[in-house]
Amino acid sequence: MDNPLLCSAALPAFAAIRPEHVEPAVRQVLDENRRGLRALLSSGATGWDGIVAPIERMQHRLARIWSPVGHLNSVTNGDELRAAYNACLPLLTAYHTEMSQNAELCAAYQRIRDTEYDALAPAQRKLIDNALRDFRLAGVALPAERKQRFRELMERLATAQAKFDENVLDATNAWTRAVDDATELAGLPDAVVARARAEAARNDKSGWLFTLDAPNYQAVLTHAEHRPLRQDFYTAWNTRASEQGQAQWDNTALIDEILALRHEAARLAGFANFAEYSLATKMAQDPAEVLEFLRRLARLCRPAAQKEFAELESFAGTKLEAWDVAFYSERLKRARLAVSEEELRPYFPLPRVLQGLFAVAQQLYGVRIEERKDIEVYHPDVQFFDILGTDGQPRGGFFLDLYARPRKRGGAWMDECLGRIDLAGTRALPIAYLVCNFTPPGGDKPSLLTHYEVVTMFHEFGHGLHHMLTRVDFPSVAGINGVPWDAVELPSQFMENFAWREEVLPLISGHVETGAPLPLDALRKLQATRSFQAGMQSVRQLEFALFDFRLHAEFDPARGARLLQTLAEVREEVAVVRPPDFNRFPHSFQHIFSGGYAAGYYSYKWAEVLSADAFGAFEEAGIFDVATARRFLGSILERGGSRDAMEAFVEFRGRKPELEPLLRQLGLAA
Ligand SMILES: [Zn+2]
Repeated sequence: MDNPLLCSAALPAFAAIRPEHVEPAVRQVLDENRRGLRALLSSGATGWDGIVAPIERMQHRLARIWSPVGHLNSVTNGDELRAAYNACLPLLTAYHTEMSQNAELCAAYQRIRDTEYDALAPAQRKLIDNALRDFRLAGVALPAERKQRFRELMERLATAQAKFDENVLDATNAWTRAVDDATELAGLPDAVVARARAEAARNDKSGWLFTLDAPNYQAVLTHAEHRPLRQDFYTAWNTRASEQGQAQWDNTALIDEILALRHEAARLAGFANFAEYSLATKMAQDPAEVLEFLRRLARLCRPAAQKEFAELESFAGTKLEAWDVAFYSERLKRARLAVSEEELRPYFPLPRVLQGLFAVAQQLYGVRIEERKDIEVYHPDVQFFDILGTDGQPRGGFFLDLYARPRKRGGAWMDECLGRIDLAGTRALPIAYLVCNFTPPGGDKPSLLTHYEVVTMFHEFGHGLHHMLTRVDFPSVAGINGVPWDAVELPSQFMENFAWREEVLPLISGHVETGAPLPLDALRKLQATRSFQAGMQSVRQLEFALFDFRLHAEFDPARGARLLQTLAEVREEVAVVRPPDFNRFPHSFQHIFSGGYAAGYYSYKWAEVLSADAFGAFEEAGIFDVATARRFLGSILERGGSRDAMEAFVEFRGRKPELEPLLRQLGLAA
């Protein structure tokens, strides 16, 4: 076999993978899987061993072949690889739709449910339940004509959502703001001014030219002393892709269409509305539970938010408009907390942080993490590590890719390289990619992190542990697979908490020159940033979440989207900072109209509650309490998606999640 993507070695042969290998490999595996499926269904095979095991192996192989392609596209992104990657996306989508709408396959799973379910292990039962649920969500049981309609709705939805994104992008790109008078730049960071100068030069203009990207928007709103500049940016940003801008990018009609399509698809699949459809795969039970959760949290956070806003106005000495809030908040924060993330960098050399992070994992879960030099990596900066269990046996491993470099996607994330499987002779241990974008080392100095970046490292490592410490042998419910969207951030946000604790500080900090750990008073100041304006930030998130959820839950084709009315009602109920009437924030709300958060934006807060409450158990018992840690390992990390998320939480915590630990963490507890 000369296509390196198709070779059977456990880990990807990165150096040998060329863009021209991608599409042939994907086509070949999809063809083989389709032939395999047909043969399976016509052979009369039944049961777990006859149906599920071979399907799991097929899907695992496809994921294994696709994973290095997706990963390399994210971290190296050459033009040819991107083209090859994009060419495969429709092939994969078509294949997944075909699988999930395959009535014969669904019937085979249903027979297992009807005949041998009771004899199966709990993880196997969960897999069967999930599979049947997903068949239903794909409209498998519909008569041919309505199944066709469901497919059309999904295709039209994909196009409309992509168009929504394009409009936001085009409207954003079309706007610029010229500045000729240098006094208007007062307060802006040098790097932002330099960028604007370069942009003007590129357009053969004098002065400065600002584009409307997120870093510029944040910088101007937070730092620009010149109020009209802030107002211009605020107005431009918050009317993007609306009827107040150019008609060709107006998302108003698309929003109506997207909501109507989702509603119709949900109805076809047997749900009352799209909110119910969305919750079918989530930990939250029903719309009433989500609404009650959001409203309860809003009632608890709003008094603090009102107090914070009153404080801010009194600090500013004036009534604040929406474009003043970030600016005065930054000044108040500096005046009150006197802490600079930048100045603390020398205390967090990356090697020290990693060593400390691995020590935390070892103390909690008994795992040892060791670098391997004999594994092929795809860039000289990338390292590979084994995770060894208490018995010294390998449990998994991860590629660690930490530094920013050209053509690497921004941000930080964990992704699956290889899923755990142990099924009828096919075995593999879980392997992860952990990716960050830290400043590379300079000269003989290691990379120095801000505390924010240390927290990011802990967050992604939490996802990594969830993937790598799984004991589940069936890929579709192992690790983070099959974990509900509103629970998947539990292990990551949980892990963040350790980076804020004084017990952990000596492990993860050591001044790059003196080796001294971060002084405790500096940590106290950092901790105070965590609760700074926590009330205002919370009600803002709750406003988005409640708006998203009500929009989908209350949609009625007879009266249309009620977009701005719903938003106004939600703001009346929870908001503290009241945006001006021209604000059209929904028109660029990509999370819910083009991303994966439709009727799911509440997941952020939901998972925060879970993670804060889970960490509460460690606060009660001692943050390195081994018994508590092993319970967290056994109930949550090792079980992945193989059991109901609420049951797993209750097994660990001894009760259902409570809000108080999050309120305490944010300094909002009564
Ligand atoms: Zn995350």
